[in-house]
Amino acid sequence: MPNAIRVRFAPAPTGYMHIGNAHTALFNWLFARSQGGSMVLRVEDTDELRSTDEALGVIYEGLRWLGVDWDEGPDIGGPYGPYVQSERLDIYQAYVQRLIDARQAYECFCTPEELEEQRELMRARGIPPKYDGRCRDLSQEDKQRLRAEGREPCIRLRVKETGKTIINDIIQGQVVYDNALIGDPVIVKTSGYPTYHLAVVVDDHLMQITHVIRAVEHLPNTQIHLQLQEALDIKPPQYAHLPLILGEDRTKLSKRHGAVAVTDYAEQGFLPEAMFNFLALLGWSPGSEEEILSRQEILDRFSLEACSSSPSVFDVEKATWMNGEYITNADAQHVADLVLPLLQEEGLIEQDLTPQRRQWLVKVVDLMKSRVKLLSTFSSWARYFFTDDFEYENRARRQWLNDSQTPAKLETLADRLEALSEWSADTIETTVRGLAEQMDIKAAEVIHPCRAAVTGTTIGPSLFHLMELLEQSDVVARLRRAAQLSAAGELAPTDQEDTPSGPAT
Ligand code: GLU
Repeated sequence: MPNAIRVRFAPAPTGYMHIGNAHTALFNWLFARSQGGSMVLRVEDTDELRSTDEALGVIYEGLRWLGVDWDEGPDIGGPYGPYVQSERLDIYQAYVQRLIDARQAYECFCTPEELEEQRELMRARGIPPKYDGRCRDLSQEDKQRLRAEGREPCIRLRVKETGKTIINDIIQGQVVYDNALIGDPVIVKTSGYPTYHLAVVVDDHLMQITHVIRAVEHLPNTQIHLQLQEALDIKPPQYAHLPLILGEDRTKLSKRHGAVAVTDYAEQGFLPEAMFNFLALLGWSPGSEEEILSRQEILDRFSLEACSSSPSVFDVEKATWMNGEYITNADAQHVADLVLPLLQEEGLIEQDLTPQRRQWLVKVVDLMKSRVKLLSTFSSWARYFFTDDFEYENRARRQWLNDSQTPAKLETLADRLEALSEWSADTIETTVRGLAEQMDIKAAEVIHPCRAAVTGTTIGPSLFHLMELLEQSDVVARLRRAAQLSAAGELAPTDQEDTPSGPAT
């Protein structure tokens, strides 16, 4: 039975889902689920010009991918709906009327040009710019005259001009704002649409939200929300403002830093559980040095009090490392499911897999998953399992394929392997080592050229096990091909830079 704790994730459907949004959603979810509370999804589409259904779809997709679910929301309803602000306009209107009747709000007829002039004047006088309050006390005649000029009013909240607004934030501690600096904010636009400030305060109240957990960028808004709540005689929820997320250059995370949309990370091959783990550690600490924590472990230990107020850095390299840990430890069947569509897209594997072929893919994945940090790079790391069309890396050429001994060595090995009646890692190993012994050279001197010929690379998983997963005839053909190319001098190092054996990530 949910207790009285209620939180909300309240995105504006105006674009892609930023890592910061995902972080906020995740922390709300962690708090709700760790406390047995309820999670509400509320769509804040008061920016009527920029909100789109498509953007809302992206939000749903991002949340589902991360495994963040909700108990009430536009798609599932709930006792406090509607959960889309544009469907609640009459509700806000009633609150605005209350404020106007109590002289807590008033019509403002200033044009954008006049507002800019006011700000200019203040800047020139060296004072922080704000609305100067000139429409606060207009008479009925003034208003009629301004209307007759064709002006459309907006509605502003009358804020206190003196004193302080104190926010006792669970994460940021006590934050004090000087009321004289606020300036009366707009609560209803000339279009008749409420602004974010009004809608958020009314909805948090009516939806009985107990804890507002959101990005620290909203902290300055909170002083307005507290004043609105006071004017409406509404008990404020508790506030917890999450720390800023920075890019690696320690500036606020933005598109300049590359991918910032959650879906981009999904496309790049992040596992949702790795992203979940990574985001949870941005601004929260489990109280130990541990970094790989399951969803349940995070839930068991999560508290808002353990969140930090200082900014945290979205370190892509670390996120990628963490993803690699998750892939390595994931079940091969699961990883195979995830890489299959990527392989199909590249035409490396057929669309309809027989059960045997699927089993084979799982074995390939099992052999390779500890080397892959992003699912999207699996196909290049493991390319040689799927096609003979692979490059011979420069290092492989230089170290093993350009030697005068290579062609004979590879041809002999091809003959021996071709003669095997049983194709297994054991028989392959015995053959390779047997040849080295017979030639009186170190096993490595056969193993390395063999790997270079069969895979084009110098490093990879156990050679005998990977060869077992290839067709015997394909291996033999690759050995002969490399032998011939080598004899023809076509495997000399190129002047290209050394590529790592497979992509670095
Ligand atoms: N719609 C706001 C945003 O997307 C939500 C702010 C809040 O949580 O109050 O930033």
